[in-house]
Amino acid sequence: MSEKTIFQKIIDREIPAPLVYEDDLVAAFHDIAPQAPIHVLIVPKKLIPRVGEATLEDQATLGALLLAAGKIAEKLGVKDRSTEGFRLVINHGKNAGETVPHLHVHLLAGRPLDWPPG
Ligand code: AMP
Repeated sequence: MSEKTIFQKIIDREIPAPLVYEDDLVAAFHDIAPQAPIHVLIVPKKLIPRVGEATLEDQATLGALLLAAGKIAEKLGVKDRSTEGFRLVINHGKNAGETVPHLHVHLLAGRPLDWPPG
């Protein structure tokens, strides 16, 4: 069996990291190198290496990632669209800057975010 990803070790509580959110399908924790005042990673408990490798079987998990994002934004006080707001990012592969081969959604908030992104 292949080595667990760093995110799997966090989900399995082998590496300590306070969870911002957890349900049956996903867990979320703060990014270790935040790119905004709020930078949370939302991760499926099932290992899906990257979004382009998800299958129909993963449909509920993919939905759970986005539903969790809304709940986390509300919990962290950045859901109000007129005063705050947030951005979700998923990196797939080399050109996108993927570094951890375990699907994760970045939730960035707490400052104005440039568009287009770098
Ligand atoms: P990506 O470049 O999309 O694969 O994002 C991976 C993210 O994981 C980066 O933003 C890293 O800062 C973050 N990261 C790596 N190791 C940890 C860790 N132990 N705890 C929290 N975040 C981490």
